[in-house]
Amino acid sequence: MIKYVFLILVFAINTFSQFTENVFIVVIDGPRYSETFGDSTHTYIPVMWNILKPLGTFYSSFYNNGTTKTNSGHSSILTGTWQSIKNDGSERPSMPTLFECYRKQVDTSANACYVVLGKSKLDVLSHSLHPDYGPEFSASIKYSEKEEDDCKTLENIKEVVTKYHPKILVANFAGVDIAAHDEDFVSYTSKIKTADSLMGELWTFIQNDSIYKNKTTLFITNDHGRHLDSVKTGFHDHGDDCEGCRHVSLLIIGPDTPVGAVDTTIYEQIDVAPTISRMLKFEMPYVTGKIIESAFKQEASE
Ligand SMILES: [Zn+2]
Ligand SMILES: [Zn+2]
Repeated sequence: MIKYVFLILVFAINTFSQFTENVFIVVIDGPRYSETFGDSTHTYIPVMWNILKPLGTFYSSFYNNGTTKTNSGHSSILTGTWQSIKNDGSERPSMPTLFECYRKQVDTSANACYVVLGKSKLDVLSHSLHPDYGPEFSASIKYSEKEEDDCKTLENIKEVVTKYHPKILVANFAGVDIAAHDEDFVSYTSKIKTADSLMGELWTFIQNDSIYKNKTTLFITNDHGRHLDSVKTGFHDHGDDCEGCRHVSLLIIGPDTPVGAVDTTIYEQIDVAPTISRMLKFEMPYVTGKIIESAFKQEASE
């Protein structure tokens, strides 16, 4: 009997992530940390703060330490390497994405991976220019008829999920960034509120889906922040190395991740892909980021 218990313990220590079969990476495009988790009143993110954060692990020192623009930020998240690419959608990442590595090793079906938009220029995320990967292992793409409309983006996710139930899905919620560039502070923060409530709706949707329920890990993060008020045009723009542009957030919720935890360790966007590759048990041979160990429950290590 003792031997039997011992064997179970060894098994538990040597295996990570026994439950995650699907991963969603949701990128809320360009809110500043000071208007989201860094705001002590959390005025614009009541759902993420009060409902979602207690369900998972929150990373308070999470950074874009590369190019703080949309296409580069998304590409760094998806490749686990710092990508500095053109921001107009004319250049793909140079290193293989999560999608390509997953499809090459695990699930070759065309709809196993999905890019749900959001900004159409992010269709470059579907595959890289890397000679060992590329279009053969590409993610499918769902474009938006109205890229700034985050409600439409959530509808697009629901449509893709209902039809295909992809294993890895990335979505771009563009409303915050577009409002901040073009409109005033009130519009910018009201778009954060909209995105916040949609995150709650998305998690409910995932947990009400019989295929995804308790088998899906959700990463909610950002591609970049925005300038501090004291830098250049302030909240309107982004793209340099100021603290406002670099400091973003990461919340991970799923069956393998501790609940109600906050990790203040410094992590970077390039750490997301290696963490997901461990969760879904496949290799990302070119990543330069590290695995976020605290995203995994370590029940047997006491
Ligand atoms: Zn952006
Ligand atoms: Zn800046």
